[in-house]
Amino acid sequence: TVHVRSAVKSYGTTRVLDGIDLTAPGGQVTAVIGPSGSGKSTLLRTINHLERLDSGYVSIDGELIGVRVHGDRFKELSERAILRQRSRIGFVFQSFNLFPHLTILDNVVEAPVVTQRQRRADAEARGRELLARVGLADKAGAYPRRLSGGQQQRVAIARALALEPRLILFDEPTSALDPELVGEVLAVIKDLARSGTTMIVVTHEIAFAREIADHVVFLDAGRVVEQGPPATVLDRPAHERTREFLGRVV
Ligand code: ATP
Ligand code: MG
Repeated sequence: TVHVRSAVKSYGTTRVLDGIDLTAPGGQVTAVIGPSGSGKSTLLRTINHLERLDSGYVSIDGELIGVRVHGDRFKELSERAILRQRSRIGFVFQSFNLFPHLTILDNVVEAPVVTQRQRRADAEARGRELLARVGLADKAGAYPRRLSGGQQQRVAIARALALEPRLILFDEPTSALDPELVGEVLAVIKDLARSGTTMIVVTHEIAFAREIADHVVFLDAGRVVEQGPPATVLDRPAHERTREFLGRVV
C-alpha cells in the first residue's frame, strides 16, 4: 500500500502539488486522472523520489521513500539507499525509453544484472519468460528501432517487471501510440492488474480506468478533488469540477 501524505512540491512560485493525500491500496490498481498541468507526472516522480518533496512524505508498505525521520524532521537517505528503494519501483513512461544499442532481451536483463547482481543466465531465463508474457518471445534478439511503438512499450513493461517491483507506476503509457496500437498495451496492463500487482496508472483513457481501476483519483491544480471507486468518481462524481473534466474528455 502506498501512502502519500500532505505532499507539497513547488517549482519557483508555482505549487505543483498543493497538499496531496492519497492511498493506493496494495495489490490493486489506482488510476490518476486530471487535466494537463494538474501535477500527475510530478506526483509519480515524487513517489519514487525522482523529485524531492518540499514537505509531506510517501511510504510504501510502511517504509518511507527517500527519507527517514530525524527528530521532528525528515532527513534524506543516502544515494545508495534511494537507488535500492527505487529499484523496487517500476516506472513505465509515455516514451518507452528503451536503450537503443541493446537488444530487447538485454534491455530487460540490464537492470537485474547490474543493479541487483543477478547471474546473467538466470536474468535471461526470467527475461524470456517476461517477454513471452507480454507477447514478444520472438523479439528477444531484435533492436528497439525494429519494433512498433506498442511492442516497444510492452518491452518497457517487461523491463519494469524484471526487477520484481512492489509497485509499478505508469505515466500515460499509451498516449504516444498510434490508436491501433493502444489496445495491445492496455491488454498487457490489464493482465498485470489481474495478477495483483500494485499499480498507479496516470491515464486519460477514462474507459480503461473504469475497466481496470479499483480506485480512481481526480487531480486538479495540484490537489485531490475526489477519490474513490470508479463507479463513484467516474459515473457519479460528487464535485462539479470532476463532472466538467469528464464531460470534456469523454
Ligand atoms: P500532462 O497531463 O500534460 O502530462 P501533468 O498533470 O503530468 O500534465 P506535470 O507534468 O506534473 O503535469 O506538471 C505540473 C506543473 O508543473 C506544470 O505547470 C508544469 O509546467 C510544471 N513543471 C513540471 N515539471 C517542472 C520542472 N521540472 N520545472 C518547472 N516546472 C515544472
Ligand atoms: Mg504528465
